[in-house]
This record gives sequence, structure tokens and C-alpha cells, in this order.
Amino acid sequence: MKIKVLGSAAVGGFPQWNCGCPNCRGVRGGELKARARTQESIAVSADGDNWFVLNASPEIRTQIEGFAGLHPRGPRDSPIAGILITNGDLDHCLGLLSLRESHPLQIYATEQVHRGFTESNTFYATLERFPGQTTWRTLQLGKEQELKYLDGRTSGLDVQALAVPGQPPLHLRGRFAPDPEDNVAFRIRDRATGRAMIYMSGVAAVTPAVLAAIEGTQCVFFDGTFWAADELIALGLGNKRAEDMAHLPIGGADGSLALLENIKVPRRYYIHINNTNPILREDAAEHAAVEAAGWRVAYDGLEFEL
Ligand SMILES: [Zn+2]
Repeated sequence: MKIKVLGSAAVGGFPQWNCGCPNCRGVRGGELKARARTQESIAVSADGDNWFVLNASPEIRTQIEGFAGLHPRGPRDSPIAGILITNGDLDHCLGLLSLRESHPLQIYATEQVHRGFTESNTFYATLERFPGQTTWRTLQLGKEQELKYLDGRTSGLDVQALAVPGQPPLHLRGRFAPDPEDNVAFRIRDRATGRAMIYMSGVAAVTPAVLAAIEGTQCVFFDGTFWAADELIALGLGNKRAEDMAHLPIGGADGSLALLENIKVPRRYYIHINNTNPILREDAAEHAAVEAAGWRVAYDGLEFEL
């Protein structure tokens, strides 16, 4: 399985347009040992020719242009065979609306995420202008399903959507009752090699189910939004703690680095990194702590074969 990180930042990207925090100021001014990042999304492929994109970030056009593997091979074409959505957060869905240039799209999501994006969304009509423009594939929790191309051929990849602790997107609060289908991880397995990757970019807690989902994979992408629970408060940027936003911080005795210290996965990446997170600074102690524990900080353009 080939894996390409298209974007690795949380909501807002790095730097964020209206943020003057030390990280954003520093990367803008070129004074930090840090890379700018677009909002989180990765692409996976069994054959290197047809790709499935996990999450459609608002920056999807730039991300497609930045990766030759996703460039058209004909006058009207895209190597994007399908798009998988982990939850209804706008940083994971808005990019769908940017793909409205009359191209057949195949979208894999739980029924809850599907409804959240399409019901009462007048903008969604732009993706239903002709029959077959958008094909939704319903992901059922826990069930391993084949990822297929639109013409029905197999891609060689299987996916399992697994419920992980999270919360419904802010804009849907009060409209939909919270549901286990609100926030999922994707476990993707290459049929030919048997190797598997687990993608968990939004996780509020490490539960036995989260550990079971990681078990037996060869690669994990995990929620790296915040280093500390009070990161935004300490910087004077807001009054919400990480747990208020359903993100488990990395650091501390109850952080993901400690709670996942015994997982036996050779490739471990933090992704969905908020611009305030000190791990973005490559010379920071927090960055060193992540690397010392065998984790890496995902960055835009990272690619490897699993
Ligand atoms: Zn910032």
C-alpha cells in the first residue's frame, strides 16, 4: 500500500490566517525550524495509479496540484477513485464542494456522516447536478468492506470503519443526536500484502476499542492536535480545553504518548496537528519526546510504501 500525506495540520492549517501565536508568527517569518502545513488529509493506493483520499480538506485543490499522483491522465480525468470521510467536521468535508467540476465522485462514509453533510445543505446541490455525479457508499461500523472503483472493479484495498470517541461537528449540534457513527477511524488493509494501516485523526480517549483497532496494524496515524490540554488557554487564544473539543492531548501522564507506549506498530505518526502545538518546532523538547518514543510528526508530502 502506498501512502501519501497531503495535509497534516488541524483546523486552520499552519500558519492559520488569523493567528499570531508564536508558532504561526514564527513560521510566517521563517524564524522557526518548522514546516508550514495544510489541513489534514492523506491518500492511499494499492497500485500507485488509483488513489483513495481520506478526508476532503478545504485545501484539496492545492493538495491535488502538489502531488503528481493525483493529476489528470486525460482531458477530463482524476486518479482519485474515492474519498473517505472520518467525520462531519468542516476541515474534513468542505473540500468535497471544491470538486464540483462535473466529475463523478465516490464518497465512503457512515450513514450519519452522509446525512450530516447532505441534509438541509443547499450547497450540496452542486454535487447532484446530474445523475451519477455523486455516489455514496455506506460504511457500516466494524464491517470490513471492499474499496471499489466506480466501475465496480476491486481496488485491492479493504476498509473497516471503527467508532472512536469523539463528538458531532459543531454546526450539527442540536440537529442530530450524538451517534457512534459521528466519528470513525479507518483500518485499511492491502489484500495482496495483508498489511494494514489505521487512520485515527480525531480521538478523544484511548479506550480498549481504540487499542484493539490499532492492534495488528503496521502503521498508525493518530490525533496530534494538542500537546497539552490547556494549550489554547495558556496562549490566550481561547477558553476551551482539548477535551472540550474531543481531542486527547499528546503529552502528560494521561496523554496519548503515555497511553500508547506499549503498542507494537512499527510506523507511528501524529497528524491533525494544531498550529499551537510545540511538536511543530523541530528543535522543541516536545518534538524530541515524540521521536524518542518512536513516533514521528507527519508533514505534508511525506510518502512511503507499507
Ligand atoms: Zn497559531
